[in-house]
Amino acid sequence: MCGKCKKRIRWIKTAAGKNMPCDEDFVYYKEDAAGKDKIVTPDGKVATGTIVHSPEFVTGFGYIPHFATCEYEKMFRKKRRKAKK
Ligand SMILES: [Zn+2]
Repeated sequence: MCGKCKKRIRWIKTAAGKNMPCDEDFVYYKEDAAGKDKIVTPDGKVATGTIVHSPEFVTGFGYIPHFATCEYEKMFRKKRRKAKK
């Protein structure tokens, strides 16, 4: 569980040996070096690509790092952006 927003999270051990908090549900993604999304694959690799909502023509599936979707992190980021102005 995320200590900040209280959502359920899944820990995935990355190839670098770190535990990465990810969203519970998996997503399909298409690998693309210019993509804006980071996806952690079940075997711990971090892929760059685009999350797609159909399982056709995808590279595979994986999990979104939780810090990309955490409501608390979003709030925190907004506040910081405001403070800079
Ligand atoms: Zn969270």
